[in-house]
Amino acid sequence: MGLFTRNKTIFVESDILVIGGGMAGCGATYESRYWGRDLNIVCVEKANIERSGAVAQGLYAINCYMGMQWGENQPEDHVRYARNDLMGLVREDLGYDIARHVDSTVHKFEEWGLPIMKDPKTGRYQREGKWQIMIHGESFKPIVAEAARKAASKIYNRIMVTHLLMDKTKPNRVAGAVGFNVRSGEFYVFRAKAVIVTAGGASHIYKPRSTGEGMGRTWYAPWSSASAYALPIQVGAKMTQMENRIVLTRFKDGYGPVGAYFLHLKTYTENAYGDEYESNWYEQTKELVGDYIDRHPVPTCLRNHAILEEVKAGRGPIRMVTKEAFADPHLETIGWENFLGMTIGQAVVWASQNIDPKHTNPELTTSEPYVMGSHATCSGAWASGPEDYAPAEYQWGYNRMMTVDGLFGAGDTIGGTAHKFSSGSFAEGRIAAKAAVRYIKDMGKNQPELSESEYEGLKKVIFQPLENYQVGRNEIVAGTVSPSYILPLHGLQRLEKIMDEYVGGISAHYMTNSPMLTRGIELLDMLKEDLVHLGAEDLHQLMRAWELNHRLLASQCVTQHTMFREETRWPGYYYRADHPKLDDKDWHCFTLSRYEAESESWEMEKAPVYHIID
Ligand SMILES: Cc1cc2nc3c(=O)[nH]c(=O)nc-3n(C[C@H](O)[C@H](O)[C@H](O)COP(=O)(O)OP(=O)(O)OC[C@H]3O[C@@H](n4cnc5c(N)ncnc54)[C@H](O)[C@@H]3O)c2cc1C
Repeated sequence: MGLFTRNKTIFVESDILVIGGGMAGCGATYESRYWGRDLNIVCVEKANIERSGAVAQGLYAINCYMGMQWGENQPEDHVRYARNDLMGLVREDLGYDIARHVDSTVHKFEEWGLPIMKDPKTGRYQREGKWQIMIHGESFKPIVAEAARKAASKIYNRIMVTHLLMDKTKPNRVAGAVGFNVRSGEFYVFRAKAVIVTAGGASHIYKPRSTGEGMGRTWYAPWSSASAYALPIQVGAKMTQMENRIVLTRFKDGYGPVGAYFLHLKTYTENAYGDEYESNWYEQTKELVGDYIDRHPVPTCLRNHAILEEVKAGRGPIRMVTKEAFADPHLETIGWENFLGMTIGQAVVWASQNIDPKHTNPELTTSEPYVMGSHATCSGAWASGPEDYAPAEYQWGYNRMMTVDGLFGAGDTIGGTAHKFSSGSFAEGRIAAKAAVRYIKDMGKNQPELSESEYEGLKKVIFQPLENYQVGRNEIVAGTVSPSYILPLHGLQRLEKIMDEYVGGISAHYMTNSPMLTRGIELLDMLKEDLVHLGAEDLHQLMRAWELNHRLLASQCVTQHTMFREETRWPGYYYRADHPKLDDKDWHCFTLSRYEAESESWEMEKAPVYHIID
């Protein structure tokens, strides 16, 4: 079969192109139709929006709901909470913007059929914690996808977007994107007046604790492959807080969530000898971060820090005390259901390891780091803020527009705004879409044009790994080893090893320093050189090849940011051994990067943090 006979080019015209049909992408698609009744709205998704993204398996709780209708919380409260958890550094304008809109998004979910649990006494949504409400959420994603499907002019499933396209006539303006169908191999050229990137976060940047047969078992979805970052980075969009990777304390080996256990089942943790341990590390942590340790709730990273120190002191493993809660049959049911609606794998792991939490207190561990912008960290693109709320310095155009004209983002894509979760990501998609529609309307007839040579050049680059394989496989020396190409899995493992050892992964106890980062940068550059020799056996492997390219670019960005921030702002997420303390004098700021593709260089700068809310 001739390789390239399949790669026919298909052109798609659109007004708004939404890349990634997860939570934020579905929100963006839905809202684009509301404001742009007559617009051509296209959503393109690597998998199938019915079950794609981090919510594919379902959720047990919506983690961001104010409850303003009952006076439970106000948006300002949420900003204070997120700011505290992020050790002072959040984009308060963006966070406030999400918080003030998120409740209406949750009400829509309910209207569309999502069962939300109710408190039988008050009739209000059942709270799991201050911000979380409990849902029967196995079908959360299909429910949300249906709204997007009805709103879109067309959804293109199974197309991986690999690059954005820039306008031929106006510098720094986006004009569309290219990608390929991961099943049929057709090459897609999308022309768009505005592009909204909502392609999720990044797992498998760092070597995971589970390797080999278990390597797909990660906390964040294994298919979240950093496209949300790589696509904007490639075209020179500024990124922020990329050093702010997240490490999660989760049930060991299955990454089962602990939130419902702590908040609803009122379980607690202890060290291997049954002792409370957090207080052992209070003074030491205070030395490092000052009074951030006295804040309530204690920032997530600092709770990780206590676990890490206790384990290093030889008093691990840390265990979750479940035996008391599970003595109550009602709580026992909730404990299991919590996994069944969201992380079935944890229940399977416990079954396979003879752990019944009624009789055995299960182990907790800290995960490998992930890069994302919607959970308890805020890596992502630097975006313009809401007109009525953002400081002048944070406004250069339309809400959620990046530093590239016409390029918007939401969810994991946008930096500086932690704790948006599923509902906040959808709400942010809606916010971005509303602004993108206005951008298009303001643009009038001044529309972007594609450059044929640009997309034809990319077509060759994108399919090159198939050819590399076709040619190089004749030289296979043993099994999968060929002198002429590297397979995506081999490249991925090399990337994970570099990030793990040099940029603060699990094997280094999340520790790094300037010399290690310098070497890490060199090794990442060498890996990049080698990626032109990626070999892809089939279209699935071609997708893996491009996922690896995206992961590598995001990793380079993470490493540059980690090098630039000369302090340890979030002990428990990572440590700069050469700058072990938090330094509010010099580093109470955002870090920004800009990648220059031609010279393959990175420019770094600081941006001020404005505290808008007292
Ligand atoms: C383990 C886990 C537990 C969580 N628990 C909760 C919880 O209890 N409550 C809660 O509210 N939130 C929870 N979240 C957070 C929530 O899932 C995320 O905040 C939310 O999904 C982020 O939305 P997003 O649209 O940015 O990314 P996603 O929903 O992940 O969507 C990204 C989409 O982009 C697609 N895509 C990626 N690359 C490409 C490409 N190159 N081309 C085309 N398409 C692409 C993906 O296939 C995917 O569909 C949890 C997340 C995880 C991982």
